Amino acid sequence: MTRAISLHDVSKAYTRDIRVVDRLSLDIAPGEFLVLLGPSGCGKSTVLRMIAGLEDIDEGRLFLDGEYGNELPPSDRDMAMVFQNFALYPSMTSRDNIGFPLRIESPGADPAPRVDATARMLGIEDLLDRFPAQLSGGERQRVAMGRAIARHPSAFLMDEPLSNLDAKLRNRLRAEISQLTRELGVTTVYVTHDQSEAMSLGDRVAVLRGGVLQQVGTPRTVYALPSNVFVAAFIGTPRINLLRGLVRAPLDGAMTISLGKQFLRLPEPLSLDHQLLRVQQGREVIVGLRSEAVRIAKPSAARTGEVALTGLVEHLEFQGHEVLVHFNTGSRPAVVPDLEAPRPRPERPARRRRREGTVLHRLRERAGALRAGPVATLDRSEQPAPASAEPRVPGDLIVRTTPDIRLRHGMQVPLLVDLAHLFVFDQQGERICPNPARLPDLEE
Ligand code: ADP
Ligand code: MG
Repeated sequence: MTRAISLHDVSKAYTRDIRVVDRLSLDIAPGEFLVLLGPSGCGKSTVLRMIAGLEDIDEGRLFLDGEYGNELPPSDRDMAMVFQNFALYPSMTSRDNIGFPLRIESPGADPAPRVDATARMLGIEDLLDRFPAQLSGGERQRVAMGRAIARHPSAFLMDEPLSNLDAKLRNRLRAEISQLTRELGVTTVYVTHDQSEAMSLGDRVAVLRGGVLQQVGTPRTVYALPSNVFVAAFIGTPRINLLRGLVRAPLDGAMTISLGKQFLRLPEPLSLDHQLLRVQQGREVIVGLRSEAVRIAKPSAARTGEVALTGLVEHLEFQGHEVLVHFNTGSRPAVVPDLEAPRPRPERPARRRRREGTVLHRLRERAGALRAGPVATLDRSEQPAPASAEPRVPGDLIVRTTPDIRLRHGMQVPLLVDLAHLFVFDQQGERICPNPARLPDLEE
């Protein structure tokens, strides 16, 4: 029987003042493959261990198939865990490792038929008589999976099971895990810090940051409708381009988003999405453009919804099937360490914030744009980026293109931006557009 797993406002604190999991609510359907995704230390393993019963729940409630389960001992939860570090008994053969939990569960029964069936399913029949030391990393992880599967548990809990493997093997096992769990139809909670793994495996992906759930949705939804800058920047490679923008909405002219030396002119009549931007008039926003939102083409080739920019080629990354072109468009990257950091920084005292007497700050204050809550410090251009920020990559806009387009460093190239793929976030990092109403097939 696969089972439904529900967390209601679940919190965990190892020390008095820091909640490593903070009021997490999540409903996992029977048979669902849910991925918990987030940077190292965001509380993923803790959540998994609370579901398994290996860690006490401080606050909140866990329901297994609708029944209150906080105090249920791990052995009564009927779940199998697979860890990153294989965790096989070194003195046992694969056969005994796989059979071990079966022997514990039903001491009288012969585990052989189940062990053999599991080995066949995983294609490890010829490894059954070897000891862990005689197996490669991938083989060991297959045996560990075998041990989890043989018990026919009602849920799999997998904690970064592929992290210790090389990239090629990881991809292969990823496909195998996906196929296997689907065939078995067993509810699976899979923890990873690797966004591409999350996107390729999950029915849904739950993104955690500093113990707080940021968003949960299908891979398609979290990619197309990230709820905030953190999710947008964490998901997708190359990382989304984040630029400083200033919304201008004159009463007598077209609305634009200034990107420094160039601007995006929003086509009239304004889409519903872009109408939402009108209230941002005079404010700084964070513009997000994924590398596929921009193409190399002349303004005359513009389709509806595309606007022109130009970019200077600064760097080329050849990837075989595609080339990533780093352009300088005269924009300023939005360096938003506060919004992208694994854990939000504690709020600074309001008094100190007010003292920052930049012109922009005063303008913003006058525009009434200063809202309560943590405000992103948009990199104020000429200042060097803070030491904690990622090293700057060349250019301010990375665009994907096919290798057949011949480009050289220093070339000035015409670009078209597809405004249907324009993301705008406010200074708190929350998404303003796109508005989900425009993407009816994506639930939020
Ligand atoms: P993740 O799996 O996302 O990397 P974890 O759930 O392991 O994160 O840890 C979340 C946070 O809790 C981290 O800051 C970690 O240092 C802390 N932590 C984990 N286990 C313990 C523990 N037993 N005692 C104290 N702190 C812990
Ligand atoms: Mg972990």
